Amino acid sequence: MGNTGVYIELEDGIIKKTNYEVLTLAGGGGREISSVLFTDEPEKYGQDLKKYGVKTIIGVTGTEGLGYNAEVYAGCLARIVKDNDFSVLLGTCSARGRDLFPRIAARFEAPLVNDCLDLDFAQSIAVKPMYAGKVIARVKVKGDRQFFTLRPNVVEISATDTADNPVITTVDAVETSPVLKVKDIVKSVARTIDLTEADIIVSGGRGIKSRENFDLLQDLARVLGAAVGASRAAVDAGYATQDMQVGQTGKVVNPKLYIACGISGAIQHLAGMKTSRIIVAVNKDPDAPIFQKADYGIVGDLFEVVPLLKQELLKVMKEH
Ligand code: FAD
Repeated sequence: MGNTGVYIELEDGIIKKTNYEVLTLAGGGGREISSVLFTDEPEKYGQDLKKYGVKTIIGVTGTEGLGYNAEVYAGCLARIVKDNDFSVLLGTCSARGRDLFPRIAARFEAPLVNDCLDLDFAQSIAVKPMYAGKVIARVKVKGDRQFFTLRPNVVEISATDTADNPVITTVDAVETSPVLKVKDIVKSVARTIDLTEADIIVSGGRGIKSRENFDLLQDLARVLGAAVGASRAAVDAGYATQDMQVGQTGKVVNPKLYIACGISGAIQHLAGMKTSRIIVAVNKDPDAPIFQKADYGIVGDLFEVVPLLKQELLKVMKEH
């Protein structure tokens, strides 16, 4: 297998945690990694990326302040893959990764496996969930160039510092007049913790009954330092925004703790959260399917249970 490239996703100039997971996986077995970042100042990231065994940093300049443009990014990355003869390009299975990687793979007519849980580089086998997580598939990939995105929170981050500083090069983003124009990027309001990166998620379903009642979950989340998610029913009803949706057609999350409040546990919801390390369910229906997946279940009215939980947590925190 040839060179291994990792696309590093920056958010407001900061390397998202999930990138370190990809680097940990990519760097295993002593593979040499090149990383690609869209930044005018790649040297800023040198010492950080060195800790993960990155040998080469390629900075794509000329896009800072312009925001993400799928066409420009895909064009630049495809050029870098070709010029550096990457046989493998890895990224995170984030919203951007899912948008970007198919575009790059298509340019090479090469295989792409999204949402991988693991990769066997030697045999070109990707492990990934299929059919809403009902099966775990081992996908054998063929071809000179292969593309993969990794599900967040499945790889334990570990650093493999190298003695040498990475070699830093830059290339210009020279995609000529993209058809796609980004007019504006609207950030979701008041959300500070990215769902896909969160260690703890408090999620609400149709049982929450209104947008205002989601404040209950926000309150609990603040105490726990958690992100707030939602079921599709809650999103469709307008109680929560689409970027909060967890599930088959929403985000796939993998936190240490997932607290599902007023969520029945439909397979499409489970597909997005069932690999959470600990699942707590609060539901007034003792037969709700979520209890079959939950490690801890509370049968009760969430409007009583959630404030109580918050109160008890605050007590415990004060004591310690
Ligand atoms: P419900 O199923 O209506 O459950 C509400 C729960 O709240 C019930 O169990 C009830 O007992 C409980 N409850 C009510 N009041 C209270 C109270 N006061 N206290 C405690 N508990 C209470 N769904 C997703 O979530 N994510 C997806 O990505 C997704 N993708 C889909 C894709 C497809 C193709 C399809 C067909 C469906 C998809 N769905 C998805 C929808 C999914 O099938 C369910 O309809 C949805 O998950 C139900 O959401 P819910 O559990 O919030 O609502």
